[in-house]
Parts: sequence; structure tokens; C-alpha cells
Amino acid sequence: MNKSIILLSGGLDSLVCLGLCKEEYNVELALTFNYGQKSAEKEIAAAAELCKYYGITHKIIKLDWLKEMTHNALTGNNELPHGLDNPEASAKAVWVPNRNGLFLNIAGAFADAENYTHIIIGANKEEAATFPDNTKEFAESINTEFQYSTQAKPQVLVPLINYDKNDIVRLALEKEMPLELVQSCYDTGSGHCGKCESCCRLKNALKNNGAAKYLKQLFNE
Ligand SMILES: [Zn+2]
Repeated sequence: MNKSIILLSGGLDSLVCLGLCKEEYNVELALTFNYGQKSAEKEIAAAAELCKYYGITHKIIKLDWLKEMTHNALTGNNELPHGLDNPEASAKAVWVPNRNGLFLNIAGAFADAENYTHIIIGANKEEAATFPDNTKEFAESINTEFQYSTQAKPQVLVPLINYDKNDIVRLALEKEMPLELVQSCYDTGSGHCGKCESCCRLKNALKNNGAAKYLKQLFNE
């Protein structure tokens, strides 16, 4: 029988993964990572709300050492890049050393200890274009690794791998997922800044789907 862990940042992709997989893969546990990112507090709060909504256990993993060794615009004093005009420079500015590799391996340890069958991550087509740790090849390579590094041999699932942000918002709307609870912003402060790369991707996808209600709720537009 399936029993799954989800990596839940509280952002759009992780919500839609949870909504899609909750029943079929019996998602029981969500892991949210605090590695000193500017948005940590609001991500944790959003993830907690989503866990309450879907009735699953929430665990917050603190990675202070990752915060200490990471010097970039997500965690440090550097300003976050705005907009989507230069995705490669933006990806470089927010890169966290081995982040998804690390997160999946931490989830792999939980899976191995408690015999979870699957680990779900919101890697998607849009971000795979600039983040190599969002690709199908990466997920497959971690699956191969787990064959050797665990006894439970959990499988990494990437349900959004063929979808861009427009598709992901469309799925959320079709399945009536609670988009109002999402927190996708990279920056400090409450709510969505509307300017960082992640906000721009979400805002564009909401606009393209005609989701006026959520544009108003999340971006006050
Ligand atoms: Zn933002």
C-alpha cells in the first residue's frame, strides 16, 4: 500500500502536488525546510495551513548550517532579482548549494525509517529550464541512488514534470484547490511582493488563466 511524504514549501507547485497525490499516493507527512530563506516564516505558516486543510502531519526541518554556508539573494542581504527577463542570472542569484538533492535525501531518511513508498516533489517543466535539480533526469538519478542508500527504496514522484505554471494553475482551478492559501514569494514581509521571480511566475499564470479572484487575494491586483 502507498504511503507518501511530500516536500511542501507552501508554494503553488507543492500545493498542486499535494492536491493531485493526496488520495492516490496516501500522503501522510509533509516536510518544510527552514534554511534561513527570507520567506521561511511565511512559507512555514502557509505549509501548516495546507497540512491542516488536507489533514496531514507537518514537520519543519531546520537547517541552520545551510543558512550559514549559503550566500545568495534568497538567504542573504543581496537584493532578489525582479521579473523574468533574465532567468539564468536569476537562477544563479537564488541558487542554494545542492538544495533539492539534500531535501530529497532527508526525505529519503524519513522514508527509510518508516517505510514510506513515495516522496513527492513539485519539480516542473518551467523551472527545469534553468534549474537542473528540477529535471526528470535528476529525479531518476535520486531513485537510482535510493536503490543503494535505503532499504525501503522509496520512489521520487514528479507529478508536475510535464507542466508549466499556466498548466499548474489550471489544474488547481479545475480541481478547486485552495489557491488562497498559497505562499510563493521569495522575499521577506507578509504576503506576496509581486516583484520577485516566483511572484511574477505565479501572477502571470493567474492572469493567463483569468483567475481574477486569486489575483486580488494574493497580489491585490
Ligand atoms: Zn515575491
